[in-house]
Amino acid sequence: MNISRLFEKEKIVFSFEIFPPKYETPIEIVYDTLEALGDLSPDYISVTYGAGGNSRDNRTCEVASIIKNKHKIEPLAHLTCIGSTKEDIKEILDDLKKNGVQNILALRGDKRDGEARVGDFRYASDLIEYIKSIGDFNVVAACYPEKHLDCNSIDDDVNNLKNKVDKGVGHLVSQLFFDNNSFYNFREKLTKKGINIPITAGIMPLTQKNQITKMANMCGAKIPSKYLKMIDKYENDKTALRDAGIFYATEQIIDLIANGVRGVHLYTMNNPVVARKISINMANIIK
Ligand code: FAD
Repeated sequence: MNISRLFEKEKIVFSFEIFPPKYETPIEIVYDTLEALGDLSPDYISVTYGAGGNSRDNRTCEVASIIKNKHKIEPLAHLTCIGSTKEDIKEILDDLKKNGVQNILALRGDKRDGEARVGDFRYASDLIEYIKSIGDFNVVAACYPEKHLDCNSIDDDVNNLKNKVDKGVGHLVSQLFFDNNSFYNFREKLTKKGINIPITAGIMPLTQKNQITKMANMCGAKIPSKYLKMIDKYENDKTALRDAGIFYATEQIIDLIANGVRGVHLYTMNNPVVARKISINMANIIK
């Protein structure tokens, strides 16, 4: 099923992101997470892809296949291209197709420090073009409400996004953000630029102080002062901090939906407890 077509229905598209276990770890470690997330009946579950670009070190296809074939939920397989050749990518696409995985989040990925990798792709747009040229996949792409860190200005980033979307993208999934106004301003820019495909808002609930500050630094997300105050207040009480994070994320989602956002993507960090609490909070809201 093409997950981008879900936006044609009169409902909120609610999805989760998980990461696969590392190659040396038994695959079974993710089974409980999948079971618990599957029970929440998301519209789709996305599975991240290690930036190494080496399919043998990667469990994405394996986990996506379990989601599709065991849990009967549509998977969205992430795929990065930096450092990969066309042959590498073709091999992965063949594998995904064999397992019935039709939806791909096409990404550039990031170079690791000190790594000099050459490959056939420079930007995600090159990967999108390649996927479109060889297979019948629905391609989804990433976007950055507070701009991508490598880009000098939000306007340049939106121009590059327009180029990416024009290669044939079904919908966009945003980087995490904690200030909804960033998302609304970004959405307005996209509309002005003629980008009219659905944009799913990426929400990461706070579960641990270190995790959230690390992620925010990595992707450049602004942390509003009310969020910082919340962390300061509850940082020594793990459960209170988690509950406050769940409330904050819930409030963010309610505001987004009230402002016409049609898709919410929860960065679950493989934590089904948090995903469950948010899903329960949202049960009547995301209908
Ligand atoms: P691109 O769209 O190629 O953009 C990268 C940069 O290049 C931007 O600054 C853009 O403005 C610029 N650019 C694009 N085209 C041009 C051009 N023609 N000329 C000049 N500049 C240009 N990483 C992983 O390794 N694994 C994952 O599973 C993963 N999942 C992600 C999921 C989401 C929803 C998001 C938002 C990010 C994810 N990432 C993941 C991180 C992502 O790989 C990095 O943010 C990466 O740096 C950019 O990827 P992209 O696909 O957005 O790149």
